[in-house]
Amino acid sequence: MTGQPLHAAIIGGGITGLTAAFYLQRRLEDMGSAPRLALLESEPRLGGKIRTTIRDGFLMEHGPDSFVASKKGAYQLVQDIGLENELVRNHTGQAFIARGDRLYPIPAGTMMGIPVRLWPLLRSPLLSPLGKMRVVQDLFWQRKEPGGDQPVGDFFRRHLGNHIVDRLIEPLLSGIYAGDIDHYSLQALFPQIHQLSKNRRSLIRAMSGAYAHVRQAPAGKAQGQFLSFKTGLQSLTARIESRLKSCTIMKGSPARAIRRQGGHYRVELDDGRTLDACSIILAVPGSAAVKLFPAAGNAISPVLLTPPTSVANVVMAFPQGTAGMSLNGTGFVVPRGSGHAITACTWAHLKWPHVAPNGAALLRCYIGGPHDAQLVDESDATIVDTVMADLRHLMALRETPAFYQVTRWKHAMPQYSVGHLERLGDTRRTIATQFPGVFLAGATYGGVGLPDCIRQGEQVAHDLVDHLAQRNLLNSREASHVD
Ligand SMILES: Cc1cc2nc3c(=O)[nH]c(=O)nc-3n(C[C@H](O)[C@H](O)[C@H](O)COP(=O)(O)OP(=O)(O)OC[C@H]3O[C@@H](n4cnc5c(N)ncnc54)[C@H](O)[C@@H]3O)c2cc1C
Repeated sequence: MTGQPLHAAIIGGGITGLTAAFYLQRRLEDMGSAPRLALLESEPRLGGKIRTTIRDGFLMEHGPDSFVASKKGAYQLVQDIGLENELVRNHTGQAFIARGDRLYPIPAGTMMGIPVRLWPLLRSPLLSPLGKMRVVQDLFWQRKEPGGDQPVGDFFRRHLGNHIVDRLIEPLLSGIYAGDIDHYSLQALFPQIHQLSKNRRSLIRAMSGAYAHVRQAPAGKAQGQFLSFKTGLQSLTARIESRLKSCTIMKGSPARAIRRQGGHYRVELDDGRTLDACSIILAVPGSAAVKLFPAAGNAISPVLLTPPTSVANVVMAFPQGTAGMSLNGTGFVVPRGSGHAITACTWAHLKWPHVAPNGAALLRCYIGGPHDAQLVDESDATIVDTVMADLRHLMALRETPAFYQVTRWKHAMPQYSVGHLERLGDTRRTIATQFPGVFLAGATYGGVGLPDCIRQGEQVAHDLVDHLAQRNLLNSREASHVD
């Protein structure tokens, strides 16, 4: 490295690292300090888990397909990069849940399976009479909440009974987090519900008060709550990349090691080059961060207590539509132990009409998770055969796809187990004291959804500039470069 050390080296070019780079560049420029930034990404492309491809008029998402509209940071970023005119909102419709070989509508007035309105749930054939009675008991029984964190599964089982958890809540949550509901941390995943339950005896009454909009909305008629882009989610990362004019972007450049070097940090790349930087943003998955920066590894390891799980995403295109798919809706989820390999299936062309040509169908299925990890390692053909067998049973699907794409996400779904927030607090405190100028952000730490990653990226950019300002490291305009 010649010249001054970089203000920051950002390791990892997923949405977290990209957001951090964007806001760092902006804030440094706003303060009149010429940014000295480098973003290192091991893959030849940026975006991390965000990956969109287009083929024969089908727009296929291989990782996330959208983000929750109500979380502010994501929308703010979209505005800041001038992409709001490209936004599209999902079409709403009935979602289903598998039981045996049939699909049952998810009762209206539920949020992630938790009843906010009781009547539709009581009329649903999904639960047994005993299961329904157990849910209703929540209105009358007083349960003492244990202090501190607890497993999500325990919490819902105590309030609503095992039956609704196993048939409704577990498959919906596993569809999002690909983990085990009996290990998830309530504090980390559902802080609002955790808070509500402290103040009210009945979970249903508490939810009903806090989520009145769900109580009032008829099934399938509400406004879509998710956003994506006309040309796919990758337009988000592509636009951020195009805005990073004052940041050296190094694709296909894996960082190999980070070491402390006097008052700054030295990043060694796989190809032997080095970079010196006053501060580092580690926006890589936690397991990669531990290997890269062994000195800080002991502090980071506790947040990886429960290893990330693996899933595969199977996108299948049907140019002539799907005759067997007479159902109208947005897709279905499958409870654990149902005998099916699919954990969730989105009827992408109905949820997002722009993703398939008129009259055609695009299905997105998931397999894997903690209870079926070995299937992810099978060949594409085996995975697709397995998925198609399930779809034939569950949807009476007769056609075969014109083409498909299987994307494996190995050890990619972080698992926030009980005590996650406490362990994370300890990790952050240790890093701040022992490695000043090193910042952790991304799905491993403060939330897995895209808006959570964006919020973290923006926050570390802010914290990092404060750190540099406090140490008078912002002023020089001298250029620097990589050796
Ligand atoms: C299949 C799937 C579906 C999902 N669906 C949704 C959804 O619909 N909505 C939603 O909000 N969220 C969803 N998520 C979650 C969300 O996509 C992720 O949490 C988020 O994209 C993670 O972003 P990140 O930047 O933290 O990490 P990543 O995207 O993993 O980026 C980290 C980057 O670091 C790079 N890297 C690793 N090691 C090194 C190294 N040594 N040197 C340099 N670079 C390195 C990697 O190549 C990668 O590009 C989904 C996730 C998956 C896997």
